[in-house]
Amino acid sequence: IYQAMFQEKKPVHWDGGKDAYPVLIHDRIFAVLTLVGVQANNDPLLFILIDRFVSELQRVKLYESVQNLAITDGLTGIYVRHHLVERLEGEMERSKRLNLKLSFLMIDIDFFKHFNDEYGHLVGDVVLRQVAETIKKNIRELDFVGRYGGEEFGVGLIETDEATTLLVAERIRSAIQDSVFSAYGEKLTVSVSIGAASVSPKFDSVSAIIDGADAAMYEAKKLGRNRVCVAG
Ligand code: GH3
Ligand code: MG
Ligand code: MG
Repeated sequence: IYQAMFQEKKPVHWDGGKDAYPVLIHDRIFAVLTLVGVQANNDPLLFILIDRFVSELQRVKLYESVQNLAITDGLTGIYVRHHLVERLEGEMERSKRLNLKLSFLMIDIDFFKHFNDEYGHLVGDVVLRQVAETIKKNIRELDFVGRYGGEEFGVGLIETDEATTLLVAERIRSAIQDSVFSAYGEKLTVSVSIGAASVSPKFDSVSAIIDGADAAMYEAKKLGRNRVCVAG
């Protein structure tokens, strides 16, 4: 009986006192509304109510997807800078309130300009996507990553102390170094420089922790790139 509903995308009725209404968005079922103990068959008022309910559900779902569009970077699928900073603000507040650790990584691709010049922007874009993907694979579900600038990524590590932060940063760095990215027939390797900062009396605000990670990232560049530096 459900199969009929999924194929025809129409409400189904049966004698057990249950009716099932598919809720569609762009012609795809995203929810099924079932009524228990009510016989809707011949009650126009109930149908009006169901209609209202269904269109409210659709509205909420569409709102959610617009929200997602606004916080997601179109190229890489990770957070845009604005939302990255907003998440960091929320976590900074929570870490202060509950006295929890919190760390931030600034990750910048090495010699990316040269890369673009050599292979073109489209290849550069694929590399950006794959670097973002590699970062995501090497952090936990509750951590978060966003695009801080063109080829700069910011990562928030929740409840993570300095030692673990260094471990995670090193894991990301080596995973990227060891990856061979393919883009338009090219096989490419890239490296990143990473700066890490953890919440401390010195890094006790969003701007301080971002600046700290950024300065450490520049230190990593200065020392020869493809390495992790910790903010002091
Ligand atoms: P460094 O090792 O010092 O970081 O050198 P770099 O070349 O990576 O740094 P630089 O800041 O000089 O260049 C960053 C380049 O990133 C410049 C710009 O062309 C490129 N870029 C920024 N955003 C995008 C993007 O969305 N797509 C592509 N393909 N390239 C981008
Ligand atoms: Mg760079
Ligand atoms: Mg840069």
